[in-house]
Amino acid sequence: MPQVRPQTGNPTWLPEALRAEGLDVTEFPGWRQRGHGTFKDIRGVMVHHTGSDRASAASIAEGRPDLAGPLSQVHIARDGTVTVVAAGVAWHAGVGMYPWVPANMGNWHLIGIECANSGTSPSAPHRRNWPDAQYFALVRCCAAINRRLGHNAARTIGHKEYAGRAQGKWDPGGIDMDLLRRDIAEQRSADIGAVPTPRPPVPVGEYADILLYRGSRGTQVAELQRRLKAAYAAYAGDLVVDGVFGVETERAVREFQRRFGGLKVDGIVGPATAAAMRLKLV
Ligand SMILES: [Zn+2]
Repeated sequence: MPQVRPQTGNPTWLPEALRAEGLDVTEFPGWRQRGHGTFKDIRGVMVHHTGSDRASAASIAEGRPDLAGPLSQVHIARDGTVTVVAAGVAWHAGVGMYPWVPANMGNWHLIGIECANSGTSPSAPHRRNWPDAQYFALVRCCAAINRRLGHNAARTIGHKEYAGRAQGKWDPGGIDMDLLRRDIAEQRSADIGAVPTPRPPVPVGEYADILLYRGSRGTQVAELQRRLKAAYAAYAGDLVVDGVFGVETERAVREFQRRFGGLKVDGIVGPATAAAMRLKLV
């Protein structure tokens, strides 16, 4: 289980905490050193939409001509890819207030998550234009951070709740923050160190026929090894991509299943495990 401890420095623990929640995390080059200085005590999470479905992690890391990056610590693409772009303070919150955040100081107390999403409109119903992969990655990111900070879901707020429409902020659009917090609370209550039973984050239909186990060989095994090596480098970075499902591949699969939660930890890649890691079918 992750340790809960007072958080005063920069959150260099982000990739580890997010992966422990079962997320697929990319570390954007230079993230550890990127930021506008050092956090004060970290009190929670603020959720944003970028305003564009296609905004890249790089655009959040580097910023715009009128606003230097980083613009948040975390970026979530529409396919659910989570990228940590910065550990230092980011310009995401601007001016505003919320009961447990010092006025206009959100940037120094809140970890920002920018989701590549147009937001649709200020009055869009909950989850319009939010693909499952992106929405559930967001739920897990918020739960992971709340968990690490020792907080419940109430410590996740939207930019619109802090800055408000008076300042032209209505992000995240298409997200009812109370419903998001309900989903975060559900994820947060799962014991990620044990074996809860959440459903896989994507339908398993396309994976119905997949079955890889010790002794399997071929291009699909090679693809599995590539996926594990690239996306789960923390424990599969040394895996050899040889198309042979051996002891090391099985060990990595078990580790994936254990960390993801809700999967049978048997070292066998069936539909649920393949769906959970979004294995490309070849
Ligand atoms: Zn925002």
